[in-house]
Parts: sequence; structure tokens; C-alpha cells
Amino acid sequence: MVYHHIIAFLFGMGLLVNAVLFIPQAWRIWREKSAHGVSLVTFVGFLLIQLVTVLHAFGMGDYELMYGFLLSMLTCGSVAVLATYFRYIRGQDAACEHSKNKDPELTGIANELSLAALIEQMPGHIYWKDKEGRRLGCNRENWQQFGLSSLEDYKNKFDHEIFREEEARFITGVDREVLTTGETRYAEEASSLANGEQALFLSKKSPLRNKQGKIVGVAGVSLDITETRNEQIAKLKFFENMIAYMPGHVYWVNRDGVYEGCNNEQARSAGLSSRHEIVGMRNRDLPWKNNRSVLAEKLDRTNQEVMQTGRTLVLEEQSEALDGRRLVYLSTKVPLRNGSNQVVGMLGYSLDITEIKRSEIAYHEAKQQAESASHAKNDFLANMRHDLRTPFSGILSLAEIMQEQETAADKRENLNLIVQSAKQLLSHLNEILEFAKSEDGGLPILDKPIAIKKLLEDIKNMMLPAAHAKKLVFKMTIDSAVPGIVIGDLIRTQRILINLLSNAIKFTQCGGVELIVKVEKNLDSGFVLKFVVIDTGIGIPEDKYNLIFERFNRLTSSYSGVYPGNGLGLRMVKRFLDEVNGQSMVRSRMGEGSTFTVLIPYRASLAELSQDQAAVDTSLSV
Ligand code: ADP
Repeated sequence: MVYHHIIAFLFGMGLLVNAVLFIPQAWRIWREKSAHGVSLVTFVGFLLIQLVTVLHAFGMGDYELMYGFLLSMLTCGSVAVLATYFRYIRGQDAACEHSKNKDPELTGIANELSLAALIEQMPGHIYWKDKEGRRLGCNRENWQQFGLSSLEDYKNKFDHEIFREEEARFITGVDREVLTTGETRYAEEASSLANGEQALFLSKKSPLRNKQGKIVGVAGVSLDITETRNEQIAKLKFFENMIAYMPGHVYWVNRDGVYEGCNNEQARSAGLSSRHEIVGMRNRDLPWKNNRSVLAEKLDRTNQEVMQTGRTLVLEEQSEALDGRRLVYLSTKVPLRNGSNQVVGMLGYSLDITEIKRSEIAYHEAKQQAESASHAKNDFLANMRHDLRTPFSGILSLAEIMQEQETAADKRENLNLIVQSAKQLLSHLNEILEFAKSEDGGLPILDKPIAIKKLLEDIKNMMLPAAHAKKLVFKMTIDSAVPGIVIGDLIRTQRILINLLSNAIKFTQCGGVELIVKVEKNLDSGFVLKFVVIDTGIGIPEDKYNLIFERFNRLTSSYSGVYPGNGLGLRMVKRFLDEVNGQSMVRSRMGEGSTFTVLIPYRASLAELSQDQAAVDTSLSV
């Protein structure tokens, strides 16, 4: 009996210990928030066995056994519940707690690979050395690329045992700096690889510290940047070549006026054999021919102005070639700025404009000569107008007086012929002188009030005798919309209409001539008047419409005597129309007649002048 109690007591104690042992497990899961390392199947299986035992003990009425296993179920169950919660509901376990990565494959990798294996396979070069520079370890790429047979072969080697002397000295120097300063350093390190190629590495090196924080070595990561650097160099070379062969003179100086570079052209003109020679020189060091200091001073002054004001300068600069020729340059100088927008230098571009300058001077001289020749011509024409017309008018008046006084019929007839010929000659003379004056630009463009209706009336009266002499009907129609006063050029309006009407009468043998005047269109500040001259004369072939406006061009020869003229009238009409922004159109049928239409813009008169007032301006100057 005693024996039975001892067994039951020990069994009860065993169950209690068993139940208590689950508590640290549950506590660990709760603290780490992870079920990593917990076999859920084992726990659930164990829980089921406990449940079956509890049921069996209940059936047997063994309550001691039942309570013991229930207690054990409680602690074992809490482990199972916590493990299930953190693994399946929170979805976390120890392996992915840090990475937050639920990818089972990666979790597997993390579980499988040791840190050493990971480093071994890392790309780039990873290495670490002790304070003496002895290599302690590295990844595979590192020992393989530098021609070592294994990691063991690599270990304990110094830089000079792996690299060339020069390379090793530099690399060791960087390490030493890291060790002495305790700071991270970046460096571009050149190394020769096992395959004989030269490589350039960008290295980042940091001090390696022990648990006490004491520096015990150097750890580094190096990336091969040979290819990238070669591409950069190729690009740089391309741009350098571009600048070297640029036309014109290109140069740049630093803030102190010291040259930092130039193109070939600039080097050549400065007497240097290579453009690289200019680097470090100042303007005063360049071998300019003469006036060295004066020139250098001037150039320096403008360069400094650009840098001080920070503004671009465009100016003409004088210089002297090595062979002594005086040269003129058109220079553009711009301030060079750094990333913080501070002016750090000046970039200049100068173009040799000596030849252009020379032709400019020649052009001005020629212009001056032409202007003085033109003045002489104007003077000559003015003199001619007076010198030819005055005596000629005298002869004409005298012949007219003699004709009036003569009683003998045959002599009277002869005198009449003299008068007619003299009149014709005077008219030609007037036309030629007038034409010369207009071609010469001697007629200023007027902008004055014109009593247009009065002017048209005067022109009509002037034309009537010639029309009647040829038994032609002369008609003038003025539209009622045409204003009494317009503002424009009186002389040109007069000359245009007289020329057109004279031609119409001259080239018409029977029928008549008509002048129609109307408003073509209204403008903001005035209107365009339309003058139409219609005749029933000989007509003009269509392909000659343009030709008749050329000077000296006539479709009928004047020596036949029927249509005298000099071919200047329409040319003058065209010129005058151009000068007042007018237009002309011709329509004609051979043998039936011609229609000349001209459009002339005028300004509207604000204050209506009285006809008398404006009439002063319309007096015909024939
Ligand atoms: P001109 O009348 O002195 O010959 P223009 O320059 O006025 O010179 O005219 C040039 C030519 O145009 C005239 O010689 C003539 O052949 C032709 N022409 C001009 N107006 C008319 C017209 N109304 N009818 C026919 N031909 C004309």
C-alpha cells in the first residue's frame, strides 16, 4: 500500500515537472514573437495523447491522473497555441523576423547559407586585412582575379606580394590613412589583374574594430570601374577634340586671368606650338608681336569686367598678328560659373573680322563718294532746269510775239511751225528733267490737304484742248462719295493722272477718253481712291502690259511722228505709285482701247478746309 502511494506521488511529481517544463518554451515564443525551432506536429501529437489519457483517467475514476494530465495539457497547449498564432496568424518566425520576407525560398537560403558562404560568393571585391596589412580574408572574386590559387594562398599575403610595386605603395598608403585617421576613405586604385590587364577600382575602406572598439584592421569593398572610366575618357577626348578644332578663337581663363585652355586656332595665333602650352600662362606671357603690355592689359581688363559683373560682353577687340598685321576681332565673353553659381572664370570666343571691317570701311568710303556724286548730279540738274529752260522759254515767247506781229501769211506759217516745234521741244525737255528729278529721289513725299475735286477739275481743263484738237470726247465722272479734301501727295497725284490722261489722248484717234473717280475702300485712318482712265485708242498687247512701265520702252516708234514720246511717263507713274503705296492695273484690247486703273491711299482730313484754302495746293505745276 505504501508502495502504491510512493509510486502515485512520484508519478504526480513527474507530471507536474513535465507541465512546468513547457512554461519556458511558451515564454520564449511569446518574447521572441516567433515559433522558430518549434515542431508544431510534436506538440499537437503530444497534446492528443494527453487528451486521450485524461479521458481514460476520467473513465477509470483516477482523478489524480486526470488532473495531472489536464495541468500538463494546459502548459503544453499554451505552447501549441502560441506557436500556431505566431507561425500562421502573424506569419512570422525567427528566420524572417529581420527581413520581413515571407518568400519561403529566400528563407531557405538564409537558413542554408552561412555568413562565410555568402561573403565568398559576393560580387565585387570584399577583403579585410590586419593592422600590418596582412590579408586575412576575402571573397572568391578577389583572390581569383589577382591570380591566387585559393583563399589559403591569399591569406597572410601583403599588398606588395600581390600587386606591382607602384600599385602596392598606393594601396598600402590608403590603408594607412584609414588606420591612422579611423575614418572611411574612398580611392581610385589601379591594379594589374592575373590576365595581364590593367584595371581601375573604386575602393571604399573602413577601419575594422574589435568588440572593445579598438581598430584591428581595414575592411574594404572595391568595384572594377575600368570600362566606365574608359567610356568617360573616350567622351572627354571627343569633346576635347571638338574644342581643339573649333573655328574661331576659343579660350578660357580662371578668376586670376590665368589661361586654363584654348583651341588650336588661338594657340596658333598666339605663336604657341601646342594648345596645351597656354595652360598656366597669362595674357602678358603670350608672345604677342608688339605693344605686348598694352594689349595684354586691355584684354585682362575686359576679362576681369566679365568676371566681376557676371555679365556676357560682346565687343570689338584690336590685336596684332605675329607678322605685324593689325587685326580686329568680334569677341563674346561669358562668365564661367561653378555648381554654386559662383563665377570661377571666363570663356571667350573671338572671330577675326578684319576683312569684314576693311570692306565696311571701303563701303562707307564708296557711299560717301556716291553721295557727293549724287549731290553734284542734283546741282547739275537744277542748273540745267534753269540754264536750258530760261533761254528756251525766251526763244518761244519771242517766236510767238513775232508770229502775232507778222502779217505775211507764208512767214506767219513758218513762225507758227517754229512755235509748235519749240513747244514740243520744251515739253520733252520738261519731261526729261522731271523724270531725272523723280528718279533721283529729289521729290519729297508730301502729306498735305488736297482739294481733290478742284484738282480733278483743273486737270480736266488742262486736257480738254488736246482732246478737242483731236475731236475726242472727254468725260470725267466723280462719285459723290469722294470727299472734297484728302490728305496726301499732291504732286504725285497730279503727275500720275496727267501722264495717264495724256497717253490716253495721245494713243486715241477717234472716240473718247474718260476719267472715273470713286472711293475703292475705307481704311481706319482714311480711304483708297480709285482713278480709272478709259480710252478707245490703239490698245496694248497683253504680253506688253509690264514692259510699258519700264523706262524708254515704247510700243510705237516716235520717229514715225504719229505718237511722239520718250518712254518715261509710265515709268514715272509706277515710281510715284510705289512711293505712295499705290497700285496700278492695265486692261486693254488691241484696236479697241485701254483702261488704266490706279489705286492711291489718302488720309482723311479731320477739319474740312474750305475749297479756297485747299485750292492753293492744287495749282498745277506743269
Ligand atoms: P510715252 O508715252 O512717252 O511713249 P510712256 O511711258 O508714257 O511713254 O508709255 C510707254 C508706252 O506705253 C507708250 O509708248 C505706248 O506704246 C504705250 N502706252 C501707254 N499708254 C497707252 C495707251 N493709253 N494706249 C496705248 N498704248 C499706250
